[in-house]
Amino acid sequence: MIPYGRQSINEEDIKAVVEVLKSDYLTTGPKVKEFEELFSRYVGSKYAVAVSSGTAALHIACLAANLKKGEELITSPMTFAASANCALYCDAKPIFVDINKSGLINEDAIESKISDKTKVIIPVHYSGRPVNMHKIQDIAKKRNLIVIEDACHALGASFNKSLIGNCEFSDMSVFSFHPVKHITTGEGGIITTNSKKLYEKLLLFRTHGITKSQNTMSKNEGPWFYEMIYLGFNYRITDIQCALGISQLSRIDDFVTRRKEIAQEYYEAFNNSNYFNCLIDFDKQISSYHLFPILLTDKYKNKRKEIFQMMRNAGLWIQVHYIPVYLHPFYQNLGYQDNLCPIAEDFYQREISIPMYASMSDIDVKFVINKIQEIFEKIEKSI
Ligand SMILES: *Cc1c(COP(=O)(O)O)cnc(C)c1O
Repeated sequence: MIPYGRQSINEEDIKAVVEVLKSDYLTTGPKVKEFEELFSRYVGSKYAVAVSSGTAALHIACLAANLKKGEELITSPMTFAASANCALYCDAKPIFVDINKSGLINEDAIESKISDKTKVIIPVHYSGRPVNMHKIQDIAKKRNLIVIEDACHALGASFNKSLIGNCEFSDMSVFSFHPVKHITTGEGGIITTNSKKLYEKLLLFRTHGITKSQNTMSKNEGPWFYEMIYLGFNYRITDIQCALGISQLSRIDDFVTRRKEIAQEYYEAFNNSNYFNCLIDFDKQISSYHLFPILLTDKYKNKRKEIFQMMRNAGLWIQVHYIPVYLHPFYQNLGYQDNLCPIAEDFYQREISIPMYASMSDIDVKFVINKIQEIFEKIEKSI
C-alpha cells in the first residue's frame, strides 16, 4: 500500500530519541530550546516556540494576537479544520474567503470580507505553494490586521526568494510535525515570529500563562515563586519529540529535494493528461510539495468516487484535500451555508491527492504513475 503521505525515520532519528530517554530531561529540558533555535535558524526567523501540535500552535498564535470574543478571523475554506477552529477557540468568528483555481485563498476577494471586527488573517499555503504574501501584507497593513501564516504544508517552500516561516510578510507562521508533514515529531508544532513581544506571550500561553521572570511578576516571595498571569494551557512538547525534530530537521533539504524530484516525474507523466490537471507554481512561488493534488477535468468530475475507489483498490491510499471547512456539520450548525465559496466546493469535487513523500522510491513513483494511467484508461472505456 502506498499512502498519500508518510514519515521517513532513519537510524539517526531513532538514536537521537533513545539518547534523550536515557538523559535527565524528558520534557522542559535542553532539546526543546535547541530545536527552536535550529528551526528558527533554518527558516530565518528571530524566534520560535515549539508546542504539542500544529493546532496548539494556531490556538496560541491567535491568543498572542489577542483575538477576542466577537472579533473575526479571515481564512480559506480549502484547509484542515484547525485553521478556522482556532478562531472558535477564542470565541471569534471564522470568515471564509473563496479560493482561486489553484486552491489558494483569492487575495483579491479578501478586502470585501473585511469588517470593523476583523483582527486576523490566516493565509494557508495549500499543498506547499505559498499564497502571494505581498498582497496579504498590503491588505493587513492598510487595516492594521495580524497575519498568521498557516505554513503546515510549507516547510521548505519560498515566496519571492524568502523561505516561508521567516515572517518577512507576516507576524507569525505556524508549522505542524504530524507524520505526513515534511518533518515529524510524532505530534508537534511550532510558531515562528520576529516580534519579541509575541514570542514572550507565546511562551506564556504554552505553559499555563505562568511566569517566573522578574520582569513580568508583580512581586517575588522567594526562589520557589511564580505567577499565573494569563489563562494558558499545557501545550508543551517533550524533549523526546524535539530530539526527533532536530534529527529530522537536519534532513530537511534532502526531503524537499526528493519531493521536488517526484513532482517533476509526475508533471512529465501527467502534463498533457485529458483526465486531470496538476497544479503548478506561479508568481514567485516555490512549492515544497506537501501534497500533489490532481484536479479532474469536467468530463471526469462526476466519476471522482469511482476513480478514488479504483485507486484505493489498486493499493494507492490516496486522500481528498479538503472538504471545505464550513460544510462540516459543526459549522453548518453555526449557520454557515452551502455555496458560501463555490470555487472551493468545485475544487473539492475534483480533487485527489496522489502519493507524495520523501521516502517514496523510484519504483513506487513508477508504480503510482502506471496505476493511475491504467485506471483512467479503464474509466475512459466505461464512459
Ligand atoms: C496538519 C495541519 C494542521 C494541524 O496540525 P496538527 O499538528 O495536526 O495539529 C493545521 N493546518 C493545516 C493546513 C495542516 O495541514
